[in-house]
Order: sequence, then C-alpha cells, then structure tokens
Amino acid sequence: MERFEQLAKRLNEVCPGLELRPFEPMSSHTSFHIGGPARLMALPVDTEQAVCAVRAAAELGITPFFMGNGSNLLVPDEGVEQFIIKTSGMKGCVVEGTAVTAECGITLARLAVLARDAGLTGLEFAHGIPGSLGGAVTMNAGAYDGEMAQVVVGVTCLNADGSVEQAEEFDFAYRHSAFSDGRRMILSARMELAPGDPVAVTARMDELAVRRRDKQPLEYPSAGSMFKRPVGHFAAALIDRCGLKGLQVGGAQVSEKHAGFVVNRGGATCADVLALVEQVRRKVHEATGVELEMEVKVLD
Ligand SMILES: Cc1cc2nc3c(=O)[nH]c(=O)nc-3n(C[C@H](O)[C@H](O)[C@H](O)COP(=O)(O)OP(=O)(O)OC[C@H]3O[C@@H](n4cnc5c(N)ncnc54)[C@H](O)[C@@H]3O)c2cc1C
Repeated sequence: MERFEQLAKRLNEVCPGLELRPFEPMSSHTSFHIGGPARLMALPVDTEQAVCAVRAAAELGITPFFMGNGSNLLVPDEGVEQFIIKTSGMKGCVVEGTAVTAECGITLARLAVLARDAGLTGLEFAHGIPGSLGGAVTMNAGAYDGEMAQVVVGVTCLNADGSVEQAEEFDFAYRHSAFSDGRRMILSARMELAPGDPVAVTARMDELAVRRRDKQPLEYPSAGSMFKRPVGHFAAALIDRCGLKGLQVGGAQVSEKHAGFVVNRGGATCADVLALVEQVRRKVHEATGVELEMEVKVLD
C-alpha cells in the first residue's frame, strides 16, 4: 500500500470524523481556478482534527501543506503528490473587549464584519482581501495602509510533531512572517483592535470596496498581485511601462485593467501562467533592470 493510502487508512482509524478527499481537483480550491489533483486532502473542522491529521502524517514521514482559501496559490496542471490540510472548516471567533481571537480558516471578510458588529475598528483594510486568517497572517497580507502585522498580537500554532504552542516571534515584514516557511500550521490568531463606530467602519469598508472594484479585474479568476512590490518601485507600473498589459499566453493574460494581476481569461493552465510570468519578468528586467519576484506561491 502506498503511503498516502496508508495515511488515509490511519486517519480513518484514529480520526473517523475527519473529511478526507483523495485526488481532489485543486482547480476547485484556488481563486485562479487552476490546478490538477492533490493526492490527499483533509478538511479538519477543529483543532483536535488538525492535530490528529498532522500527527498521523508525521508518523508516516509526510509533510502536510496547509492551505486557507487558495487565493495566493498556483497549482501545477499535473497535480501534486501532497497531503493538503485545508482549513476552511475551522472558523470560530470570540470577541472579548477589544481582543478578537479567531480560528485560522475564517475568511477576512467575515472576521472584519464580526469585528465591526462588536464595535471595533482596525480590520477594515482586510475586508476585501479574499483570504483566510491563517493565510493572511502567513503572508502578512495588507492593503490601503493596513497589514496584519498592525493587529496580530498572538498566534497559536501546531508544530510538525503535533505539539501546540504559542508562537514567540512573528517576524512580520512585507508579505512575510515567521510562518512563511510552511513548517507550522497556524491554528488561531489573536488581534487587538480599538473601539470604533460601526457606521464609520462600514463606510470605510464600502469606500475601499469601490476602490478595489475600480482598479482590480475582479471579474476574472486570479490570485491577486502576481509580483511582490520591488524596493522603490511598483510592479504594476513597471509592467505597464513596458507595454505588457494584455499580453497573453494561452488563457493567461496580464490584466488590461491592472498590470500587476495575471488573470485567467478562460481555460488557463498553470503552464500558461508560468510562461507568461517568465516573459513579463524577462521583459521588465531587460527594460528596467528590476527583477520581479513572484508573490503567488507555486505548489510543487
Ligand atoms: C482578487 C484578489 C485580491 C487580493 N488582494 C490582496 C491584497 O489586497 N493584499 C494582499 O496582501 N493579498 C491580496 N490577495 C492575495 C491573497 O488573498 C492573500 O495573500 C491572502 O492572505 C491569502 O490567504 P489564503 O487563505 O487564500 O491563503 P492560501 O492561498 O491558501 O495560502 C497562502 C500561503 O499561506 C499559507 N497558509 C494558509 N493558511 C495557513 C495556516 N493556517 N497555517 C500555516 N500556513 C498557512 C499557505 O501554506 C501558503 O503559503 C488577493 C488575492 C486575490 C485573488
């Protein structure tokens, strides 16, 4: 029996309630709508199931890949020999005074609304980012002068051996955190917010939503900004300056609306996206000397 079958068998024994999906098409789980089958996916609904999944994988020498909403992921067309732990079922949230503690799989949109309804301000920037809390902490997601680093004060994580601990260092930097190496699963995070008027918070969220809709190609599947912001530049401005808006490989296109986005115009493959990214990187480097680095994670 191969090791993923062994893992599924073991998980059925030790964690019978855990949902398992062999050969799960990742195109159904990524905002790009791209990606072949993942060898095995587990969908825990609580910490106990997540611990069980990570421990069983460790016993068989399998390193899991933790995913939230798949809004910053590109998955190969041929699929991946990976054990994916998808966190969307872990979405509890507790508000105590100005502190909000939530499980990793809650969406940022839901979290921002819960905080607002509790009379708290500080998460308006996150409302339009289509990720989960775990993905956002890992990436130190940010927009419109806000970023997770400004609000996160505690992170509970699950180590590869199945032990649970409070992280001591977050190491937040631009689109980076202490969790970016993928070794630990973020189980939950605590955020410290400030008292705020829900009407003003709603107005700010609405204003940012309009700005997003005006600037971003939200009508097409994508993974948001394809490239990190190079020091001293904006990736989208460099790409636009090189005349690359609308450049297309197969179904993948440099958005005509926002040059920092690569969009799936229909039927794009991972190979299309990567070929397009390479062309963009080469042309921008030739014309400006700037090396663009991908922000989107490629699973392998
Ligand atoms: C239309 C659009 C707009 C976007 N706008 C923005 C924006 O304004 N600002 C911005 O920063 N990003 C933006 N993004 C990108 C994306 O939404 C963020 O990076 C988001 O934080 C990713 O969260 P996720 O849950 O989808 O993570 P995933 O894509 O599932 O994973 C991203 C990374 O986080 C890790 N991860 C996820 N959950 C966990 C966990 N529980 N424990 C450990 N590691 C974990 C994964 O292993 C992976 O390395 C946008 C994307 C789209 C499609």
